[in-house]
Amino acid sequence: MDFTHFDTAIDVLPRRRVGFYPTPFHALPNLSAAYGINFFLKREDLAGPSAISGSKMRLAEFILGRAIQDGVTHVITQGAYLTNSGLQFAAACLSARITPILVLTRNVPRHGELGEFRGNYLLNKTMGVETHVVNVIGSTWDAPHVAVRVAETIADRKAELEAQGHKVLIVGAGGAHPDGFIAHALTFREMLEQSDAAGVDLDFVYHTIGTGTALPGMLAAKLSLGHPVKFRSISILRYNDGDWMNPGVIVERTKAVLDTLGAPVPDDATIRAEIDVDQRFIGEEYAVASPESSAAIRELARAEGVFVGPVYTGKGLAGLLDHARSGRIAAGSNVAFLHTGDTGNLFEIPQVVGHIAD
Ligand SMILES: *Cc1c(COP(=O)(O)O)cnc(C)c1O
Repeated sequence: MDFTHFDTAIDVLPRRRVGFYPTPFHALPNLSAAYGINFFLKREDLAGPSAISGSKMRLAEFILGRAIQDGVTHVITQGAYLTNSGLQFAAACLSARITPILVLTRNVPRHGELGEFRGNYLLNKTMGVETHVVNVIGSTWDAPHVAVRVAETIADRKAELEAQGHKVLIVGAGGAHPDGFIAHALTFREMLEQSDAAGVDLDFVYHTIGTGTALPGMLAAKLSLGHPVKFRSISILRYNDGDWMNPGVIVERTKAVLDTLGAPVPDDATIRAEIDVDQRFIGEEYAVASPESSAAIRELARAEGVFVGPVYTGKGLAGLLDHARSGRIAAGSNVAFLHTGDTGNLFEIPQVVGHIAD
């Protein structure tokens, strides 16, 4: 498939523009010199509309594009209390004059009772977003009974709004809605154009994987455009067969994006062979600082003056730097790291942020 067919397939989809695209792509000369590997950053964290943004903004543009056509008045989405996705969906909804509602979980033993507003939660409050917090005590955020309480909270609020004549769209955790998976096909397409302009052939794209919204689009773009790049995903949650998120989910979403692009769909095994998830950098738990992540945040900040965040991108960068040190990336390779955002979480509580200032 060529760029023209690729672009045409995406241009016909409903989209509410909110962010600033293409996002920047640039070299990291000091980190590159230190490792003998050519590192680049793709800056989804700068997607806008504000300085604290991330990879969910692209999803929101496509999901809201359709929602506006459908006459949706309210979007309810869910996540942890420090959700990046919720923050970006809220910003996108407000700019599109749709009312955002967030149903959030808080791991009380880990993060304490909700007292002072900090990080992304503060920003959501600043935007006046309606929030409902489900406290998680003595279990993890993804325990089945927690999921039930979240689902009930969403269903009750939806029923109330519908009884008042409103139209409600529910968007799953992390912005995982089928209308959004096409979005990051554009991210990879932009990266190809930007790396070409820099005279660079990308060997690897590294990124942090969670709810699996960025990889399917990027992978579909790679497959449909026939590029040899390899994706390497560093996960912040378990990614084995049988887990809530697993490679099979990525395969199904990738097939759906290829379909939307009108590109040939290879067999499952071919797509699966492109998926490489490293689960060694999760740390103790989701949204709990890990020493490797804190070290990676400091290393990038001190080398280049660029910040990644503690919940996702610090852990992803820790994985990338480990692969670089251990020889899993050959010297002289061209490697892009997808900066998916998370910088608002640098202003969270110490349990989340870790020790990054010493
Ligand atoms: C959601 C998120 C991720 C994980 O993204 P998926 O593509 O949905 O797996 C990574 N980094 C940040 C900052 C995020 O907000």
